[in-house]
Amino acid sequence: MPCLPIPLPLQPGPWLPEIDAAWLRQHRSHGVTHLLQRWRAIARSARLQLTLLHETAGYPVYFLTSRRVSARPLYFSAGVHGDETGAVMGLLEWAERSTAWLRQADVILVPLFNPAGLALNTRGDANGADLNRCFDHPDHPHIQGWLRAMAPYQPRTAVCLHEDYDAQGLYAYELNRHPRHQLAHHCLELSDPILPRETRRNIEGRRARQGIIRVRRIPLFENLPEALVLYQNSTPRALTFETPSECCLTVRTRAQARLVQAICDEDATRPYDR
Ligand SMILES: [Zn+2]
Repeated sequence: MPCLPIPLPLQPGPWLPEIDAAWLRQHRSHGVTHLLQRWRAIARSARLQLTLLHETAGYPVYFLTSRRVSARPLYFSAGVHGDETGAVMGLLEWAERSTAWLRQADVILVPLFNPAGLALNTRGDANGADLNRCFDHPDHPHIQGWLRAMAPYQPRTAVCLHEDYDAQGLYAYELNRHPRHQLAHHCLELSDPILPRETRRNIEGRRARQGIIRVRRIPLFENLPEALVLYQNSTPRALTFETPSECCLTVRTRAQARLVQAICDEDATRPYDR
């Protein structure tokens, strides 16, 4: 695989914390206990309600809702695959800088969907199951917990944060019932200065243009991923962002955080969506 271009200089700024000893101590991307502590601190500071969605290998799976959560909130998830730390760190570091916004927000966060996989640095869960092929399996205990927690909600926009070992740049899947209000292009444009987008025209067997795969029809197959089930059941738009796993973790984290912020900023301009 060719070396991934890393934009330079990596100067500290709003999307990149200063890399010093304190930051390095914080940057423990597979330390589940440490990451959960940081999420509990965010929940306290942002007054998020923390619900136990499931328990796996001794780790809790948290479902966080803002105080002002409505029936049609924003939705973000990360860490469905345990070996995709850029997504987990991106959402975490974004949330730590956004507690004031979160206090007023209408949002659901499932920030560490597969803690057992993260601890093991593996795609699957504690039993080796790929959870992102289980979202249409309501009898799977982990998915059962998620479906129960999600039952009152129909997110106005759902975002699933992922990473891809084969990717050579940032890319997105967009499922959108409103073609005039597409979001992926805008989000990737804002992330371009941090992490260039994927240039391949065929990604995972699908046609891609400028790093965007638009899924127009829900495929008739089983073992569906989270985004497809959300789109099928409730949300009018579901985006999946994928950063390249082989790229520097700092850059991936920064790009993921930028994407989350781009979605929140864009959402603020769409009052008709509520
Ligand atoms: Zn993934």
